[in-house]
Amino acid sequence: MEKPSRVVVKIGSSSLTYENGKLNLRRMDRLVRVLSDLQNSGVQVVLVSSGAISVGFRKLGLPEKPHDIPGKQASAAVGQCELMYTYDKLFSEYGHAVAQVLLTRDVVENAEMNENAVNTFDTLLGLGAIPIVNENDTVSIDEIKIGDNDTLSAMVATMVRADLLVLMSDIDGLYDSDPHTNPGARLIERVERITDEIMALGGGSASAVGTGGMLTKLTAAKTVTAQGIDMVIVSAENPDILYDVLDGKPAGTRFAAQ
Ligand code: GLU
Repeated sequence: MEKPSRVVVKIGSSSLTYENGKLNLRRMDRLVRVLSDLQNSGVQVVLVSSGAISVGFRKLGLPEKPHDIPGKQASAAVGQCELMYTYDKLFSEYGHAVAQVLLTRDVVENAEMNENAVNTFDTLLGLGAIPIVNENDTVSIDEIKIGDNDTLSAMVATMVRADLLVLMSDIDGLYDSDPHTNPGARLIERVERITDEIMALGGGSASAVGTGGMLTKLTAAKTVTAQGIDMVIVSAENPDILYDVLDGKPAGTRFAAQ
């Protein structure tokens, strides 16, 4: 297997924050260190990071994630700053420039706006910067909403013509039954084709802070593998696992490009 040269890595809210909503700095630092190292080794990296709403509502002192749109939008505006401030600080320690890219569905779906965004990605990557992408939650209303970052990361992987999309999550892959309720559930290491049986293994959202679940991950896999892009679901617990993923070693669940 050839080593991927352009990779999109997505990390979810529950993997970036503690249960009290504060940033898990040890996790972030490790992730940033590994991504910086991959970039140093010549791999172009795009990071899709969730966490804006989750970090923001806690910083605003709200007791729970707001249910209303303006509350979510305000939380995202505050949290996105904190996220980027922290990423910028950590990536700077390893000598890397980061770039914030906030997308909405209309940008992805409108040919002209899409082309502009693709050019920006290509220019940033060509200059050695690490684009950090999120949905522009602060202005996203229903009509232009993507909704979850599994879907967003599949769009981004397609836009940047990545070789590989890695979804880092609080679950370490796709199981043949629900591992939360069935202790005998087995991890599926490789999926050659996303059949109806595979799609049926996707349940609802697995965590209280994230938006996606297995179903959005499987849908993302369907999108990117059809574009010739491999996708891997791995645990975010130890970001060093990304080295194995890039080397094509067994890690989590790999969905083979079609
Ligand atoms: N864009 C949302 C945020 O940053 C996260 C969406 C998701 O968890 O998939 O809070």
